[in-house]
Amino acid sequence: MNECHVDGAAIIARYDAVVEKVAEAARNSGRNPKDVKLIAVSKRHPAEAIKILNKHGQLDFGENYVQEALSKQEELAELTVNWHFIGHLQSKKAKDVAGRFTLIHSIDRLALAQKLQNRMQMLPVSGLDGERKVQDILLQVNIGDEAQKSGVDKDGLFELAEQVAAFPQLRICGLMGMPPASCVAEEARPFFSNLRILRDELVTRIGIPMEHLSMGMTQDYVQAIEEGATFVRIGTEIFGPRPY
Ligand SMILES: *Cc1c(COP(=O)(O)O)cnc(C)c1O
Repeated sequence: MNECHVDGAAIIARYDAVVEKVAEAARNSGRNPKDVKLIAVSKRHPAEAIKILNKHGQLDFGENYVQEALSKQEELAELTVNWHFIGHLQSKKAKDVAGRFTLIHSIDRLALAQKLQNRMQMLPVSGLDGERKVQDILLQVNIGDEAQKSGVDKDGLFELAEQVAAFPQLRICGLMGMPPASCVAEEARPFFSNLRILRDELVTRIGIPMEHLSMGMTQDYVQAIEEGATFVRIGTEIFGPRPY
């Protein structure tokens, strides 16, 4: 099989099964399936795979790498897609993502947020009302306290949230977090409940609504939904193993 080949039927079959599992996990925990949004993580998979799923009705896609994401956006410009940036973001790349994604999940430090705000300020105002555009973001938290992992430390979260909340063109919509890679399924659960508790504390302390929790991937999305995820980010179970 050559590496450009996309098996559309297989992707759709796996996708339909995931959609059903997501809804079932929501219902099993007394939640409305509509409150859990599935993000299909298409990083390293060709634009063709996105096109197939988008035609099938999937709107939300997640990408990790700035250049790859922007070239897919360009190639698929005629489609209606909600693009999510979920990967680690270098501060110097903030200017390339500002205003181009429905939601940026990985804001984890002040310098990065400042660069994003600076760029948002340079974008043209929208429409006749002359209103400045607002970029929706999540704060990524290092919930596993891992040394080399992205994400703000739990201890630094409140301060960062206060500082970012002061930026007029960034809106904090919630938190994102990943358990250590070695903690899958049930072992991941405490990290998810921890993130939910942090979010609830943050809402109380900062006083702004933050409805979203972006947590759960192929190996642990059922547990994440049971612990309150509003976005699950699923790649492998939908698209199969990544090509490289
Ligand atoms: C790759 C990636 C995913 C998807 O992972 P799978 O295990 O393939 O479902 C989700 N979130 C982030 C941040 C990722 O980098």
